[in-house]
Amino acid sequence: VIHWYCAGCGHELSTEAPPYRCPSAGNDDVDHLLRRRLTDPGSFPQDEDSNPFVAFRKLFFSYQVALDGGMTDAEYVELVRSLNRRLVEVDRGGFEITPLNSEKRLGERLDLEVWVKNETGNVSGSHKARHLMGITLYLEVLRRLRNEQGERPRLAIASCGNAALAAATLARAAGYPIDVFIPTDANPAVVRRLTDLGSELRVSERREGESGDPCFLRFKEALADGALPFGCQGSENGLTIEGGQTLGYEWVRSGVDVDRLFIQVGGGALASSFIQALRDAVGLGALPRMPKIHAVQTEGASPLHRAYDKVVQRIGIAVSEDPGVRAEAISQAWGQPAVTEALVYAAQHRSEFMWPWEEVPYSAAHGILDDETYDWMELVRGMLESGGFPITVAEPHVLEAHEMAHEVTDIPVSCTGSSGLAGLLHLRALGGLESGERVGLLFTGATRGEAVV
Ligand SMILES: [Zn+2]
Repeated sequence: VIHWYCAGCGHELSTEAPPYRCPSAGNDDVDHLLRRRLTDPGSFPQDEDSNPFVAFRKLFFSYQVALDGGMTDAEYVELVRSLNRRLVEVDRGGFEITPLNSEKRLGERLDLEVWVKNETGNVSGSHKARHLMGITLYLEVLRRLRNEQGERPRLAIASCGNAALAAATLARAAGYPIDVFIPTDANPAVVRRLTDLGSELRVSERREGESGDPCFLRFKEALADGALPFGCQGSENGLTIEGGQTLGYEWVRSGVDVDRLFIQVGGGALASSFIQALRDAVGLGALPRMPKIHAVQTEGASPLHRAYDKVVQRIGIAVSEDPGVRAEAISQAWGQPAVTEALVYAAQHRSEFMWPWEEVPYSAAHGILDDETYDWMELVRGMLESGGFPITVAEPHVLEAHEMAHEVTDIPVSCTGSSGLAGLLHLRALGGLESGERVGLLFTGATRGEAVV
């Protein structure tokens, strides 16, 4: 049974309330963030279906709502399959379990065992559609239960890259009108595709004296006017995290056990989804322990690293200058008052830890240049609990990783999509990895001709 609650203020959501955003969000300095709690956990699903939204349906809130409302298991499965059929018409294909392979040549080059989950063949060419399918399924279940006919409600997203493409693709497939808030310098190839998919483009200029991403600010205004949050920020819609968890569940089901997982972080939804999926799996007895989580950002913008350092400082028990030693000490002390109290404090004083990056960020990995890590609290928790720590990479490693990915794998990954590897290279250069260590990466987005998004 799935319950939603706010990790910031503790508010428990009723089962009828849509788990988008904490009702108290925006009124204070608390980091309001809806999270799931599995009560009365059963076992990890053993369904071998090739569609992850079928295979892992029993871990989905939309499935629970559907069955509580009187839909049958077969009807829910048919709903997922019908959306997949529409996706085949709109895009190159529907959702399938994505490949997870040991990349031998990459491993040899690095003297490691490197497992790569490849999202470049996912719906619309990245992992983003997974997040948004979590929301779509919930909306479609409600529509079915309420027997609604006619036009579907308006959706909104702020993005100019893979998230926008995924949102426009899913909205088109499921029949929803959508507003996409894009910056003035949006990639023309992306803009063309968004237009082809029938989405309404809203160019968002930075206004005098405004801090934070103008697209995100305009998106928030659209939500205030009644649009539904269809983005990849967990703070705006808890279901976007749930959808992304399919990727973590797939990893668990594959049985591949890694020591460390490097995850590139922009807004933080992917890493948040992974951490929560792995935690579910530990709770369900399907995974012995979480791998060390390393969130990877670039020097262009690393607000998460800044927040993590401030939390560690507040915990105050880790004396070493070595981030690995420090992380290990905190992980050992997990659950003790020093750690718990620091996390509670951080969740209630957001602005002391997380604020928009001051400079206009630059990196070739521009898909992870969000000036705020919206899901930061979950990532800090996940890293501290697992003994991992954040890595901020310099631009040469970003480029080297992208080149290496193309040299020694057959995956058509974008520069953003291979930036987790840059984090690995950085840690390796510092001597932080042992020979033969088993590590995991997510290659999250495909190159799009010249236009790398
Ligand atoms: Zn709250």
